[in-house]
Amino acid sequence: MAVTRTFSIIKPDATRRNLTGAVTKMLEEAGLRVVASKRIQMTEDQAKKFYEVHAERPFYGELVDFMTSGPVVVQVLEGEDAVKRNRDVMGATNPADADEGTIRKAFAESIEANSVHGSDSDENAATEIAFFFNDDEIVG
Ligand code: UDP
Ligand code: MG
Repeated sequence: MAVTRTFSIIKPDATRRNLTGAVTKMLEEAGLRVVASKRIQMTEDQAKKFYEVHAERPFYGELVDFMTSGPVVVQVLEGEDAVKRNRDVMGATNPADADEGTIRKAFAESIEANSVHGSDSDENAATEIAFFFNDDEIVG
């Protein structure tokens, strides 16, 4: 299995409750290494573009409002099969469906305010990493 990278966001519901460290600890314990990290306030334009794939979904407007409602921590994670490893520790989108031991089971407030984002493919990971980070900000 190859060492790869994925992109993660610690969402506003988690930063608001001071859970940046707790979430990061679960990522690290899952075998992921934080190779880039910064706390930012996403602009409306950034959030709209980042979630463009969901533009036609009924929750798009509220999702953009939520993602800009407070600071987020954007991260690049590295590890064996990083995309899947991260998705596994994140848990299901809806915390009601999330398995024990996952970040969303532990922390998510709702299907929207679900504490973390994670890329869903290697290709999207590369696009999402490049959306927020320059190469010289990533130190593996
Ligand atoms: N979302 C929402 N309502 C829904 C489905 C998704 O508010 O019915 C939000 C939620 O924050 C989710 C994000 O939109 O994390 C992106 O949805 P996706 O289906 O890509 O879920 P994820 O990949 O984050 O598990
Ligand atoms: Mg997704």
